[in-house]
Amino acid sequence: MQKSKGVKERNLRYCTICASEDREQFGESYWHILHQLQGMNYCNVHKCRLLDSSVAISERSSSILVTAEEVIPFESEIEIADNDIEIKLIAYMVRIFQADMDMKSEVTIGEYLHSKMSENKYRSIRGEQRNIV
Ligand SMILES: [Zn+2]
Repeated sequence: MQKSKGVKERNLRYCTICASEDREQFGESYWHILHQLQGMNYCNVHKCRLLDSSVAISERSSSILVTAEEVIPFESEIEIADNDIEIKLIAYMVRIFQADMDMKSEVTIGEYLHSKMSENKYRSIRGEQRNIV
């Protein structure tokens, strides 16, 4: 689904195995915040591809609470990540998201990441650009 401005519509996502384990442990499933991070395509615990629910995330969506238990099916396809880079990216994103953060710092996350890439292959020779490839 594409909006007119080219912004991709996003939906709350879930992991089928997590939902099943939540139901077993707590009696119902719930939304996992790590599953909602942009760029997080696989479950950090089970390494299976996250699935889109029917609940849209947008500034214009209503504030009605839709519980995970209402919309996550009891069975879905399970596709396990078989790509090392993808698995490393998941672990990296979890570490970054769960790391302590100095909320008073004047340094932006982008500046910090850029500084940590100095003297490695992820920055151009002059250090001004990131080598995305
Ligand atoms: Zn999971």
